[in-house]
Amino acid sequence: MSITSFVNNIAKITLSTPYAVGDVNVYLIKGDVLTLVDAGPLTETAWGQLSAALATLGYSPGDIEQIVLTHHHPDHAGMLERFSESVKIIGHPYNQYWINRDEYFHRVYDDFFYRLGVESGLPEAYLSAVSKFKSPLKYMGNRALDGVVMEGEALPGLPDWKVIETLGHAQSHLSFFRESDGVMIAGDHILAHISPNPIIEPPFEGGIERSKPLLQYNRSLMKLMDIPVSFAYTGHGKEVEDVHGLIPKRMAKQEERAKAVLEMVQGKRQTVFELCRHLFPAVYKKELGLTLSETIGQLDYLESLGSIRKEKGDSAFHYYA
Ligand SMILES: [Zn+2]
Repeated sequence: MSITSFVNNIAKITLSTPYAVGDVNVYLIKGDVLTLVDAGPLTETAWGQLSAALATLGYSPGDIEQIVLTHHHPDHAGMLERFSESVKIIGHPYNQYWINRDEYFHRVYDDFFYRLGVESGLPEAYLSAVSKFKSPLKYMGNRALDGVVMEGEALPGLPDWKVIETLGHAQSHLSFFRESDGVMIAGDHILAHISPNPIIEPPFEGGIERSKPLLQYNRSLMKLMDIPVSFAYTGHGKEVEDVHGLIPKRMAKQEERAKAVLEMVQGKRQTVFELCRHLFPAVYKKELGLTLSETIGQLDYLESLGSIRKEKGDSAFHYYA
């Protein structure tokens, strides 16, 4: 756990998580309403760390008036249920499905990933692992969303903070921008040390079409080029000072990864699963959901450029150059 003191009304608090990503950053903002941006995972350790950090800053969890979410992942939104009912939970409307999971959530989730598994060419033995994609939700409580904010709106009680929709890493991802000094709270949209995973999610709002998170992510990244960001607080690790310098580097890296995937597809028709095994030989078994998402992201990207096409076989899609 670590904390910084307030700088221009923002204090950064770093909490442990049980996930491979390591620590998560949450932010306390002083304004008309005492606001916490993200809440950390639902663990006793994180709750103890957060309470201690708030005490150092002169507050207690009972003083928090609202929690604003950058996105619904359990390392960011897990701990919501530990706060009193009077605390308003605010975020993108899509958070609702994930932070307050019901029967509908589980049915849509399980059906979607089973179908995605079949279409990706997963062998029978792996299809049973599909339900384990949900296991990170172990550290996420259940708590309803109290209010929604959309692109361009100001945060409640924080009139100088504007909402910027930055979908890609999650279908609920928002960043928050303070025009007066160009400071952004970027969640996992921008990270100093890595690119966030473009994670595939079920279409909870109807239909069977899945999102194309990597294409979405690239668009959300380019969107920041038009916004005068001077400094970005991130969801994990250090702040980013040169956001506009980092974005072209990330896009170039993305281009490089896609090129490697294109080479694999050239000369040999392949399913998502076959490519996934080649791309991530050391981790695909352990992190099947994430590595499938990553592989499909690259394929969506190459398809959008017209470099590859897919054709449906008996059950799985086969990709070819
Ligand atoms: Zn995260």
